[in-house]
Amino acid sequence: MKIPFNKPHICGGELGNIQKVLEGGHLAGNGPFTKKCHQFFEDKYGFKKVLMTTSCTDALEMCAILVNIEPGDEVIMPSFTFVSTANPFVLRGAKVVFVDSEDSNPNLDVGKIESLISSNTKAIVCVHYAGVACEMDELQSLARKHNLFLIEDAAQGLESFYKGKPLGSFGDLAAFSFHQSKNIIAGEGGLLSINNEKLIPRAEIIWEKGTNRAAFFRGEVSKYNWQDVGSSFLPSELISAFLWTQLENLNIIQKKRINIWELYRNELNELAENHPIELPFIPDYATNNAHMFYLVCESLELRTAMIQHLKSKGISAFFHYLSLHESPFYQDKHDGRELPNTIKYTDQLVRLPFYFDLKKEEVLYVCQAIKDFFKT
Ligand SMILES: *Cc1c(COP(=O)(O)O)cnc(C)c1O
Repeated sequence: MKIPFNKPHICGGELGNIQKVLEGGHLAGNGPFTKKCHQFFEDKYGFKKVLMTTSCTDALEMCAILVNIEPGDEVIMPSFTFVSTANPFVLRGAKVVFVDSEDSNPNLDVGKIESLISSNTKAIVCVHYAGVACEMDELQSLARKHNLFLIEDAAQGLESFYKGKPLGSFGDLAAFSFHQSKNIIAGEGGLLSINNEKLIPRAEIIWEKGTNRAAFFRGEVSKYNWQDVGSSFLPSELISAFLWTQLENLNIIQKKRINIWELYRNELNELAENHPIELPFIPDYATNNAHMFYLVCESLELRTAMIQHLKSKGISAFFHYLSLHESPFYQDKHDGRELPNTIKYTDQLVRLPFYFDLKKEEVLYVCQAIKDFFKT
């Protein structure tokens, strides 16, 4: 059997919707499908205002512009994350101050943030790793106490909740991804959620290359003009048309993914009790959106051997992330603090194949291969 790590799921209606765009003649951004997608997110999750973007990375770049990041500003975020969490802020001159992960899961350890706050700190960026919520009550009160912006990198967090409230609705700003590796996909694509109302007017302008074109199209102004900095953050209608089909299938996709996740957990639970591996930990305040399934091995050596063993059985399992504070780009800029839990997840976490079309017998095959690994 050959089991890839990821396979993008096509629901079936995508081409039909793209065809409609071609026939309708509005191919650029902010057309009917973009508006339908916006409406969907605002209605379903109660986000005050959303804007489709070409990627989550772009949505985070909008965040960095919106909170006026300037050279010398400091932004606190986890080191165990994708480069796109950090790059948008570094691009605007910020110094990134990395905080360690929790011991029990890869999310940032909120208890370690306060001692890192200085007079230059402007924002905290939290990442909901594997779609599991960070401790949002504590993050919000910390941000309020120190007058900082709170930004959620919710790239993996769609359809996940903290104490019943959807991820992406806690931060002043939040960013989602529809990259083909996520639950809901558009090839490349993203979404900015703006919960701080004060930031809404400027967000629209930054989104449309620094112009008030969005207001112009609504008939609110008679001409549009250069108002501010900005870029071309809005995606073409083709992207939104594709995404719309995926959104229509959201419940089906989520149900299937959760079944796959639970099958993995049920199959591996007993093994994890007697062997040096841990299964994902989901705190009581968080839900599971089945973005990924991972194991944490006791050591780097064990993980390397396990990945090798799975590979010999035709199974692609991968590790990530390589911690950002030790990256070639940032190691000289990091302040030298040790981040032991970040290193633990960098060295010991392994992700198992996970995608909508993964069959039950394939999950069982992967789990059997892991059980066999510990027998040998
Ligand atoms: C996928 C991902 C991103 C980047 O998303 P893109 O849409 O590819 O730009 C950023 N942060 C995290 C945590 C991610 O998982």
